[in-house]
Amino acid sequence: MESSKIRKKIKDLGTERFKIEMEMIRELSRKKMLKGSVVKKYKACGKGGCKCTKGDLHGPFYYLTYKKDGKTKMIFLRQNIWDSAIKLNDNYRTWRSKRAQVSNINREILRLLDIMEEGSNVSLESIYGKKR
Ligand SMILES: [Zn+2]
Repeated sequence: MESSKIRKKIKDLGTERFKIEMEMIRELSRKKMLKGSVVKKYKACGKGGCKCTKGDLHGPFYYLTYKKDGKTKMIFLRQNIWDSAIKLNDNYRTWRSKRAQVSNINREILRLLDIMEEGSNVSLESIYGKKR
């Protein structure tokens, strides 16, 4: 890739990243977030003769899972907050996905800058030139 094309690409990526960052900041002022994942589970109660022993499990039950100190925590969610928890967690997931986009763009910009760097490297011999 020639240098002018790389420069254009870096500029475009910067513009794209700025757009995403502004969206993130705007969303932050309007939306609250619930960190982690909301997971839906069906369970067997373990009582003999119950319908669940034949595969008709109880539920759904919703839990919030998240990592703390390297361990996965799981918290039972009461039914009256299911809708809010899911919505707030969606906001979090959207936020994290945009954050990942920013990170990918940064990585791509660095890759392009490295290509430019490579093209500008000179050898010691060329610095000494004919003087030596
Ligand atoms: Zn059961």
